[in-house]
Amino acid sequence: MDTTTTDTQPMLIGGEWITSEDGAIDSVNPATGRINRRVTAASAAQVDAAVAAARDAASAKGWRDMLPHVRAQILGRISDGIRAHADELAHLQMIENGKVLSECRTQVAGAAATYRYYAAVCETLGAEVPPARGDYLSMTAYEPYGVVAAITPWNSPMTMEAQKIAPALAAGNAVLLKPSEVTPSVGLAVARIAQEAGLPPGILNVLPGTGAVTGHAIIHHPGVRMVSFTGGTQTGRSIAAVAAQRLIPVALELGGKSPHIIFDDAQLDAAIDGVVDGIFEGSGQSCVAGSRLFVHRKVLDQVLAMLVERANGLRVDLPDAPGAQMGPVSGFRHRERIEAMVQGARDEGGEILAGGCRPEGDHLAAGAFYRPTVIAGLGNHATAVREEIFGPVLCVLPFDDEDDLIAQANDTAFGLASGIWTANYQRAWRVARALEAGLVWINTYKQLSIATPFGGFKESGIGREKGVTGVRLYQQSKGIYWSMNPANVRA
Ligand code: NAD
Repeated sequence: MDTTTTDTQPMLIGGEWITSEDGAIDSVNPATGRINRRVTAASAAQVDAAVAAARDAASAKGWRDMLPHVRAQILGRISDGIRAHADELAHLQMIENGKVLSECRTQVAGAAATYRYYAAVCETLGAEVPPARGDYLSMTAYEPYGVVAAITPWNSPMTMEAQKIAPALAAGNAVLLKPSEVTPSVGLAVARIAQEAGLPPGILNVLPGTGAVTGHAIIHHPGVRMVSFTGGTQTGRSIAAVAAQRLIPVALELGGKSPHIIFDDAQLDAAIDGVVDGIFEGSGQSCVAGSRLFVHRKVLDQVLAMLVERANGLRVDLPDAPGAQMGPVSGFRHRERIEAMVQGARDEGGEILAGGCRPEGDHLAAGAFYRPTVIAGLGNHATAVREEIFGPVLCVLPFDDEDDLIAQANDTAFGLASGIWTANYQRAWRVARALEAGLVWINTYKQLSIATPFGGFKESGIGREKGVTGVRLYQQSKGIYWSMNPANVRA
C-alpha cells in the first residue's frame, strides 16, 4: 500500500478538515530518510478555535446527554473501523516511527481492543450509593471535565492515543489530540474513522504540531480542563508546572530505566528470550524497556555469552522486510543521541560486547539504523545506566544477593517497570513487593493488558491509565445529598 503523498494533510477542528502551510511539518520515514508527507500544524489561533469547538461540542445536548450505551455503540464502531483499516494504519505507523510491520499490526489490534474495552466499560460502569449516616441518600456521581488534552509521543502512537481517547470519550469529554510531530498521521486517520463511526463534530479534534508551539498553546489554554500526557520526564515536569499554576489535573506517563533481574535459579533460555524482547523490540524505544539487566554473579558469564549471541543474531532490516526483527530508530537526531550515549559508556569504562555501531548493508545506509548493543562493566551510577537512552542498548550489571539487588534496582529516579526471573516463588514475591515500580513481571516480560492499570512510581509518572478506573482519570466526582425527610418537601 502506498501511504506516501505530496498533498499537505489537513488537521481536524470542529469536524472540519483544515489545511494550512504555515508551520506545516514533514513526516519523515526513518528507514529511508525520505519525506512521507507534509502535515498541517496547529497555530495558537487554531488551538483557540479547536478549544471553542470542543467546548461547544462537549456541552451540546447531543453529547452531554447521550446515554452511555449509545456512546458505547460509537466506541464499538470506532473499534470496528480500526480493524477494517488495520493494514493502512499499521503501514502509516511503520513509515513514521520505523517499527517493524508485525509490531505495528499488533499495536493496531491493541488499539481496536482498547476502544472495544472502553465501550464495555462505558456501558456498564455505574455510580455509587455509599451507606447513609442519616435520613438522606448520598450518591457519588462522575462528571466529565469538558475539554481534555491528550499529548502523545512517537514510539507507539496507535496504542498510546487509543489509551487516552477511548476512556476520555467514554467519560463524556471532548478531546484535543496533539500527536507527536514525528508521528502525526495515525491520529488523523483514526479521527476519520471516528467521524465515520458517528462521533459528533468537535468531540475529537486532532492538532498536529510541535510541542513548543501547538503543545504550549494547548496546555496554557484556559478552556483545557485536564491534560493527559505521555512522553519524556523533562517534558512531563514542565507540563505539570503549568498545570500547577492553572490548578488543573494532569496524568503523566513518563520515562523509565527498568530493572530486569535474572537469579541463578532462572530458566535461562526463557529469561534470555524475555530480556532480548524486553530491550530490543521496537529498537528499545519502549517506556517499559528492560534497559538495566541485573544478573546473579554465578550465572553472569553464561548469560552474557547467550545475550551476545542473540543480539548479534537479530535481524536488523527495513521494517517491512519479511523476518525483520528490528527496524531503524525513530530518526537521525535520535540516533546521534544514542551514539553519544554509547560513546559516553565507552569513556566511562564500559565494554561493548555486541553492537555499538550502525549495521552494514547498502540498503540500510539511508536509514537511522543502529545495531542491538550490549554493554557490561559499568557501575550503577554510570550515565548510560542512569539515563533513559530509549534505544537498543542494554547495560548488564552483576549482583551478589537479594539485598544488593534491591538496593541497586531501586537506586534510580525512575519507577516504571521491572522483571524477575527465578524458580523461587517466595523470593519472587519478596522482590516484587520491594521493587519501586508500577509494574512487575515475574517469569515473563512486557505482558500487557488493557484491563490492568498501568503507570509509574517516582519520576515515571502520576496516575494510572487503563483498566476500569482508567475512565475515572477523565472524570471528577460529585457528591449529591438528597434528603429523605418528607417534611422538607412540599406536599
Ligand atoms: P517528548 O516528551 O519529547 O514529547 C512527547 C509529546 O509532548 C510530543 O507530542 C511533543 O510534541 C509534546 N511536547 C513537547 N514539549 C511540550 C511542551 N512544552 N508542551 C506541550 N507539549 C509538549 O517525548 P518523545 O520523545 O515524543 O517520547 C519518548 C518519551 O516518552 C520517552 O521518555 C518514553 O519513556 C516516554 N514514554 C512513556 C510512556 C509511558 O507510558 N510511561 C510510553 C511511551 C513513551
